[in-house]
Amino acid sequence: MFTVFAGLFGLCIGSFLNVVIWRVPLGKSIVSPPSACPGCGKEIEPIDNIPVLSYLLLKGKCRNCSMTISPKYPITELITGVLFALAAVKTGYSIEFINYAVLISLMITVVRTDLEQYIILDEVSLGGTVAGILLALLPGGTDILTSLITAVAGAVFFLLIRLGASYYLKRNNIRTEAPEGYEDEEDEFQGGMGWGDIKLAACIGAFLGPALTVIAFFASFILGALAGLAMIAFGGKKKTSPIPFGPFMALGTVLALFFGSELWHSYITMIW
Ligand SMILES: [Zn+2]
Repeated sequence: MFTVFAGLFGLCIGSFLNVVIWRVPLGKSIVSPPSACPGCGKEIEPIDNIPVLSYLLLKGKCRNCSMTISPKYPITELITGVLFALAAVKTGYSIEFINYAVLISLMITVVRTDLEQYIILDEVSLGGTVAGILLALLPGGTDILTSLITAVAGAVFFLLIRLGASYYLKRNNIRTEAPEGYEDEEDEFQGGMGWGDIKLAACIGAFLGPALTVIAFFASFILGALAGLAMIAFGGKKKTSPIPFGPFMALGTVLALFFGSELWHSYITMIW
């Protein structure tokens, strides 16, 4: 019963995240005005705003102007719903579910904004850090001091990577390219990690505590390296092409959240 409820709740949160991802980077309010079709400007009726279902019923087109609606919206809703349901299975009907739900929502937002616009919102990374530390006040999981220390340690670790990488790149006269639309800010991209990644590392640390954070970061580096190699081999990317790292951090975090102990055992086996 709780799993079903959590799944449906997740679908609605996914729908809300779509609004956040669309509006917050533009500096618009997330409460008003009501959602409207970007094509014809007509307000979306409640009947056409049901997560996933409305998209299927409308066959992916606006009821008024027939403009195609991107499948990324229902996919975001579906993934949020599925992850919330899985979180309910994992935590049961307990207060720990709140931690899972908040962290999952933050990570889904990171994936979308970083893939689409090469940004990680401060509201997500810094706001998430504060949320993670405050949620540590709840019983179970990490305590507030551990959460705070892991947040700082996570950010420092990523900052060191950025400093090390930018030193290496400079020394070897390697310039990484800036993504499209960010050509003026090329200097910002000369360190492997962006500032958004550093702030996001604090957020992940605040939620996961030391052991799971190590697992999450390690998983994100493996995933990022594999994806980078695959994109160079098959995707026409170069070694100096920018690839947003936030999505890999988000994926590593969700993996650590659900399979932390299993991953820990496989790392130990790999190392030994
Ligand atoms: Zn329309």
